[in-house]
Amino acid sequence: MKRPTVLVLGAGYGGLATVVNLQKKIGTDDMDVVLINKNDYHYESTWLHEASAGTLKPEDVRYDISKVINENKVKFVKAVVEAIDVDGKKVTTDAGDFSYDFLVIGLGFEGETFGIQGLDQYALSIADVNEARKIREHIEYQFAMWSTEEEKDDSRLTIVVGGAGFTGIEFLGELGNRVPELCKEFDVPKEKVRVICVEAAPMVLPGFDPELVTYAVSQLESKGIEFSIGTPVVEATPEGVKIKKKDDEFEFIKAGTVVWAAGVRGNSLIESTPIESKRARVAVREDMRAPGYDDVFIVGDCAFLMNEDAGRPYPPTAQIAMQQGVTVAENIIALANGKPTHKFVPDLKGTVCSLGEDDAIGDIFDGKKVTGTTASFMKKMIDNRALYMIGGLPLVVKKGKFKFF
Ligand code: FAD
Ligand code: NAD
Repeated sequence: MKRPTVLVLGAGYGGLATVVNLQKKIGTDDMDVVLINKNDYHYESTWLHEASAGTLKPEDVRYDISKVINENKVKFVKAVVEAIDVDGKKVTTDAGDFSYDFLVIGLGFEGETFGIQGLDQYALSIADVNEARKIREHIEYQFAMWSTEEEKDDSRLTIVVGGAGFTGIEFLGELGNRVPELCKEFDVPKEKVRVICVEAAPMVLPGFDPELVTYAVSQLESKGIEFSIGTPVVEATPEGVKIKKKDDEFEFIKAGTVVWAAGVRGNSLIESTPIESKRARVAVREDMRAPGYDDVFIVGDCAFLMNEDAGRPYPPTAQIAMQQGVTVAENIIALANGKPTHKFVPDLKGTVCSLGEDDAIGDIFDGKKVTGTTASFMKKMIDNRALYMIGGLPLVVKKGKFKFF
């Protein structure tokens, strides 16, 4: 084979892990690696709840892609991918067309609204760094308007969070700390503010350890957060959300801010390709290639993988996306050298869910449970480890989290 061209779409955890692992293992003349991303920075999606609540600034959660790529081995192109032609082996972007020998699709997640009326127009979503900035500014605007308007509309100070999965709970944890700061900043009495989490399932963090869930709920409730459980959001309007309480019983919650955190799907560009997918996630083969396409790999949240032992899919996480990037890099090098690919085997290290700056819950390794500052310390170490895996020690020193207690 001539010197192959490897095109990597998306500089999220999966795409960047693929590229940095390729650049570690190839020589400058082995292949042409091209990374395409819509921004010239990578953002830590796993920190977006902090940028959304305003406990971190947008610039804190991102870094320049040029800082982590070796420009002798990888060419970076800032462009928006518009179409992927897997039969013609061509990708169309707003900066021109690109052909490839191997394609890696790592275009990440989008918020899932399940077709619920009004959510697209009236709810905000923790989807990327710009959306996170919008959420923070929207909440600040509502506080500012309340304190300056003569006839006060208290519903401006109601924040509804749809979904009590990990994203919803982590965002609530940040709000629990941020709301007192906002009250002080905008002269708003704390008792005027309502933060309500609406969850469809009969429990918070469905499927997670019940003891840890009880801890999380009581910690969040102690900061004034309310929960409405087993009550799906069925509609959003400019004034708030409608929730279903019982069969024919509905309630309307008037709210100035609605943040939708009730699940994710893959990037919708996947659905305009002939590759079979469900909610824009592709059931990949064991070496991370798309079914029917030997030259197309899928990484991260656009990939769907079954955990056969547990009988359910692996969750779309940064932890798995980065591990997939390592395997994809190895498999591309194997194919380029006429060797067989190998199977991706996830190495799950557990889950730690933050409840704000100084608190968290964690279910790690073989069922070991941690809470409070110990869990919070672990969460920051996990965040720092993700930086280390992509950019080594210099990136940890520049962007890492070192405020422990
Ligand atoms: P992403 O990280 O979503 O990156 C996709 C990239 O593609 C982005 O750079 C984007 O700009 C780019 N892109 C998208 N469309 C285009 C286009 N058309 N053209 C060009 N570029 C494009 N997981 C964990 O393991 N641990 C956690 O603690 C954790 N916390 C989370 C907290 C929050 C608030 C959220 C929302 C998610 C969290 N997750 C966590 C899940 C994790 O963030 C995702 O699984 C992970 O980001 C998926 O990585 P990815 O590489 O697939 O894509
Ligand atoms: P999720 O699918 O895990 O949770 C979504 C929640 O929304 C569920 O509890 C669901 O019952 C609820 N929901 C669905 N429809 C609803 C409706 N109509 N009304 C009210 N509630 C509704 O999604 P997520 O929390 O965005 O997480 C996405 C992925 O990111 C997951 O894989 C998760 O593991 C990962 N993540 C991990 C961490 C961490 O490890 N700390 C943090 C955030 C996200």
